[in-house]
Amino acid sequence: MHLRIAHLYPELLNLYGDRGNLITLQRRCEWRGIACSVQPVSLNQPFVAADYDLVFIGGGQDYEQNLLHEDLLERKGPAIRSAVEDGLVFLCICGGYQLMGHEYVEHDGRSIVCLGAIDIRTEAQTKRMIGDTIYHSNFLAGKGLSPQLVGFENHSGRTWLGPAVQPLATVIKGGGNNGKDGTEGAIYRNVYCTYSHGSFLPKNPSMADWLIYLALKQHNELDWPLATIDDTLSENARNHLLTCK
Ligand code: GLN
Repeated sequence: MHLRIAHLYPELLNLYGDRGNLITLQRRCEWRGIACSVQPVSLNQPFVAADYDLVFIGGGQDYEQNLLHEDLLERKGPAIRSAVEDGLVFLCICGGYQLMGHEYVEHDGRSIVCLGAIDIRTEAQTKRMIGDTIYHSNFLAGKGLSPQLVGFENHSGRTWLGPAVQPLATVIKGGGNNGKDGTEGAIYRNVYCTYSHGSFLPKNPSMADWLIYLALKQHNELDWPLATIDDTLSENARNHLLTCK
């Protein structure tokens, strides 16, 4: 088996160790004897959905989001939207999450038209939401996985989910999507989004396994759950974050 990952705009969207999500996916594949390759896809490069099993897009400041958004819309938009509808697996972090929606309104009122691949909308405010986070995911609990997600957030955007999109989790500690409705992240078809940097997957390895399984089963026969890995170190880090004030 071979997991083929596309990394969108690696040199522009990579905050707070977002690249660590790819290292985690690679290692958890390799430890199970599964091949894994990561292909950077950036400015002026086409996105060919059929070449990939999973797409990763990290976070970035407003400046980078402005810089790449025309390329994202014009050059990659149609392929990304149809890939989302076809069930391709995506992991989108913070700024990348926002760009999957309809619009990102910056706090000076300027609007960045986004992909419209998922039914969400983001409005920035001057006060940023910054800090360690803890969330509870009924979605993960439903997969027999630990429902708690830990991470770190730093964003001015407040995201609101449309009716077709379900939240990834509810907030226990932190701001989450908008600091108001208690939701965090988003799930639409096989698109998983979160405001969690840190990076997200090394701190939440069961989420990594779910994404690997979902991406590989599109073209392979495999069972859930995947073969067990010794996660003592990750669990120690998680327990520390779950208990520290
Ligand atoms: N620029 C966006 C915001 O401030 C996203 C920031 C990020 O990816 N950390 O909300």
